Amino acid sequence: MTDHRAPVRGRKAWDAASKGQKGQNFAPGMGRPRIYAQCPLGKTHIWRVDGSCRCGYGKPEGPFDPDVILHNEDLMESAVRANDLRARARRVLVGGVNSPVRAFGAVVGDPLFIERGSGSRLYDIAGLEYLDYVCSWGAGILGHAHPAVTGALRQQAALGTSYGITSPLEVKLAEEIFRALPSMEKIRFVSSGTEAAMSAARLARAFTQRDLIVKFEGCYHGHSDGFLSQAGSGLATLGISSSPGVPEAFAGLTLSLPYNDLDAADKAFTQHHGEIAAVIVEPVAANMGVVPPAENFLAGLRELTARHGTLLIFDEVITGFRLAYGGAQTLYGIRPDLTMLGKIIGGGLPAAAYGGRPEIMEMIAPQGPVYQAGTLSGNPLAMRAGMAVLKEIRRPRFYDDLNRKAARLATGLREALRETGIAGQVNAAGSLITLFFTESNEKAVTNYKTARRSDTNRFAVFFRGMLRRGILLPPSQFEALFVSAAHSDEEIDRTVQLSRECLRESADANMAE
Ligand code: PLP
Repeated sequence: MTDHRAPVRGRKAWDAASKGQKGQNFAPGMGRPRIYAQCPLGKTHIWRVDGSCRCGYGKPEGPFDPDVILHNEDLMESAVRANDLRARARRVLVGGVNSPVRAFGAVVGDPLFIERGSGSRLYDIAGLEYLDYVCSWGAGILGHAHPAVTGALRQQAALGTSYGITSPLEVKLAEEIFRALPSMEKIRFVSSGTEAAMSAARLARAFTQRDLIVKFEGCYHGHSDGFLSQAGSGLATLGISSSPGVPEAFAGLTLSLPYNDLDAADKAFTQHHGEIAAVIVEPVAANMGVVPPAENFLAGLRELTARHGTLLIFDEVITGFRLAYGGAQTLYGIRPDLTMLGKIIGGGLPAAAYGGRPEIMEMIAPQGPVYQAGTLSGNPLAMRAGMAVLKEIRRPRFYDDLNRKAARLATGLREALRETGIAGQVNAAGSLITLFFTESNEKAVTNYKTARRSDTNRFAVFFRGMLRRGILLPPSQFEALFVSAAHSDEEIDRTVQLSRECLRESADANMAE
């Protein structure tokens, strides 16, 4: 599909176009430039270059730097549709969305409505194209609508979409997961990472007959009651440290410790001797932005938990099948007692899993007394999609190529920071990257406290600049950017080049404040 993204933007372009001049960025063959921009007086008004607006207002006086500039009448109409849809969405969906970060509140932008995806690109309902680095928050490791996945889904849909009875696909996918992550000897499929975390915690409590769970600040393990304290992801984005509705007695059963701080963990074990059921950790944190584990942090946790009879739970919902086929546990050579998976194993459909040592897992019903169930658990469409993805990504050199491209992007972003003189740093692990707008390059982001030093206003300006140029980053400073196999070197280079412009823009915006 041709790139319909407007070739000119900003006030200068507006002025040039209104005088009938051809801006240097105009696409050839487009004739006399016509520009349409969102009217600053109302969300559903669209300005034309001749100064008229659909609503009857004339061109505004003074500086005018519209966010949306479109160059054809059809796009103008679809931009109006998008605004109308936003209003309708706000009427019937809470905040207009079904997951908080999608509201784009942290980047002060209008939420997008995506109509379709293909490879590395997403297309919104206005027909605008975006190079996508959200990748369904990590699920889309192959990019959108990969033929292996769509083919598998077509095949399965014809056979039925949900049986409520076990299918052979569940056995096959579990066997493949066990081959990849040998610590997951017994597996239970569920429908979301939240469900996996909640179930793993219940199981750990039942197995150890203890109540306390240790988690780390800035890590996110879904939104079940016990995991909402000092959590990353949307809670970090919204600056929420806990949630109303979680009884204090319940919140008190979770101890939140600084990530990468073994001493703090050691102290917690001394203080709560014999009370800690499990330590749950993102082996590479990706929900406060990317924060890799310090040397010995994971090994230290393994040793501490083993010594205290506590279960070590690796939340590999993001890192599983992303950092390596065998996940972070293979990469770092640590064998947790329980592991959670999600995202990639469902190939873009709702599927997640938890699994681990048989003597622990066998406590779950029907083998044991710990109850956990699900209507759509092991859903055949999701199992089929997951298997199709795993088949693609276990090909030789898949991860070499993915990580090489991600390293190219991380290096490019670091260079862009250096060239533009903007304070910041790039944390990366495999195909997970975060550009933190921290004050000084000397203060490495190693935990939630240091991540929160980032200049979120600057991030918002940077995000909006990139979006205007057709690059969709995760709409929060405290999320990872995901590189997929569908991203090309050329797209990555373009991202770096545009990031330079946007970094400069963010500096100008800060100066203007
Ligand atoms: N664990 C981690 C590490 C995650 O990143 C997420 C979601 O992003 C979850 C758990 C929760 O998964 P879900 O959104 O499928 O409930």
